[in-house]
Amino acid sequence: MTPTRETFGNIPLSSQLAFYALAAASMAVFAWGVYRRWKLWRLGTSINARDLITGSLAAVWQKVRGGAKRVAIDAGAQQRVRGHGLGTVAHVSLYVGFMALFVGTVLLETDNVLSHLWHGLKFHQGAYYVAYEFTLDVLGLLFLLGTLFFLGRRLVKPPALGHRATDWYVLLGFLAIGVTGYLVEALRILWQQPTGLGAHCSPVGLWLAGWLHLGEAEARHSHFLVWWIHSFLVFAFIASIPFTRLFHFIAGPMHIFLAKNVLGVMPPVTMEEVEATGRVGPADIRHFSQQQLLSLDACMECGRCEEVCPAFATAKPLSPKRVVQDLKGAMEKTAAALAAGKESEVPALHEATIAAETLWSCTACNACVNTCPVRVDQLTFILTLRRHLVAEGGLSGTAATALRRMQSNGNPWGLPATERTAWTDALKPKS
Ligand code: SF4
Ligand code: SF4
Repeated sequence: MTPTRETFGNIPLSSQLAFYALAAASMAVFAWGVYRRWKLWRLGTSINARDLITGSLAAVWQKVRGGAKRVAIDAGAQQRVRGHGLGTVAHVSLYVGFMALFVGTVLLETDNVLSHLWHGLKFHQGAYYVAYEFTLDVLGLLFLLGTLFFLGRRLVKPPALGHRATDWYVLLGFLAIGVTGYLVEALRILWQQPTGLGAHCSPVGLWLAGWLHLGEAEARHSHFLVWWIHSFLVFAFIASIPFTRLFHFIAGPMHIFLAKNVLGVMPPVTMEEVEATGRVGPADIRHFSQQQLLSLDACMECGRCEEVCPAFATAKPLSPKRVVQDLKGAMEKTAAALAAGKESEVPALHEATIAAETLWSCTACNACVNTCPVRVDQLTFILTLRRHLVAEGGLSGTAATALRRMQSNGNPWGLPATERTAWTDALKPKS
């Protein structure tokens, strides 16, 4: 017998219709959640994203090639996640398992739709079926192992890692999805009684089925029940992506696509820009670009930037992760103030959001930028905010003293102007 299985086997038509209605509802909540965040990014200065997709196919490819390459390497091959020992292994494991299950679900639905539209176009059978079932069965274990690692890490709570109550919801949800997925498979094997390769291509499901000791009627009943629990969990997961840390699935690759290849470089300021805006550097969140605001949502508070920051390590009042999260808070407050028509309540970035002392603590070493998995450019945020402080006369400390001396004495050491070249005497050849 050709190895295969019915896509909605044991599920009555009424439940199938309810399944699609719930799928549409969860997708609608997901789309609404993404739209809410997109409106926040639109507060920033335009990046002319539309320009990217205009022109001939060759011209569009020319424009998007760099971004597509970054997404393939940084996100697809998890390049920027590497180098963090077990954390990296667990992230890659969770990512590979998740992507396999996602692609597997899409393929399954494609087969289902095609076989209904054109009878005989069913491809979920034979050798393909065996390879599909085996791959998903094994990679599902990677998904569960990665989830268990991150659950353990939530218990340990490393200080650099951000913690939210919804992190538990996400990880326990992943665990429940993984376990119920295997249970559905085991119960299906119990009532369907596949033989040969049709059974052995799902080794985990087959092993689990061996523990359940259920007759066909009981197995069918339980299968129906667990199938619904599994479906509810998946729909709840899809709907909650934009409202939890999971949003980095969306914002991360989007930002990697739009980010620059070389990070931590100050954008130049032109006189025209200063005359038009009446300021130098950002004073409120709307003065950052849309790409920068998107990067605030791409941050998943992994704490890697904080771990490598020399200012943070020496107990200075600076954490690049905190800077990013505080700016994200300002973005949300700004949107709320504008929606309520209260322009006066738009938070200022300086002091109200980030203290000058925090900004001056940065050594501009670029370590945070180099380590961030989603290419957040913390240094450019800090330097452009500093730039505004300087323009407003807010420079302090040794840098301010050096500049004052330059102005009055023509040298940063405060030597009398007549002696400013005295140091070159030692370099002159002896006659
Ligand atoms: S800015 Fe990047 S490195 Fe820092 S916490 Fe966010 S995602 Fe992690
Ligand atoms: S550039 Fe500044 S914020 Fe980033 S790691 Fe270096 S000192 Fe810390």
